[in-house]
Amino acid sequence: MNTLAVTSTGTFWTGDEFDHWRREYEKRRGSLQQCGTRWAHENIQSVGRKEEGRFKLMLHRISNELIAEARENGCTVIAFEDLTDIRDRSGASWGHKWAFDCLYEYVEYKAEEHGITVEQVDPENTSRRCSHCGFTHPDNRNGEEFECLK
Ligand SMILES: [Zn+2]
Repeated sequence: MNTLAVTSTGTFWTGDEFDHWRREYEKRRGSLQQCGTRWAHENIQSVGRKEEGRFKLMLHRISNELIAEARENGCTVIAFEDLTDIRDRSGASWGHKWAFDCLYEYVEYKAEEHGITVEQVDPENTSRRCSHCGFTHPDNRNGEEFECLK
């Protein structure tokens, strides 16, 4: 949940930077809200635009790194777990859901330029399935550690 993205080739992008900036912007909005003037209200909106801009930059960077990794590994398909109801299942915040949708969109159009297909797959077993031999077992995974039992 504190990981924004993980690839089957073993790279993690943590959500730490994302969460850090969300808290920062939240604080700024909070103190402006207390101020309550019209000037403060307009500033809250500009903080929102800055926040969105920063997050989009971050997600662009991650999507570029994802594509680079796919190309290095000769991948022709990038499969995303379909996390449509991630929020209900894991209690992930709205921000995470937004970040995921955004990241998916960026990867999808950038991958196309490199002839890589992007699709969504059922997340049910992807975290337990070995990407090399296909062996699927809950004990393959211990938190963020993955070791195929076969
Ligand atoms: Zn295996």
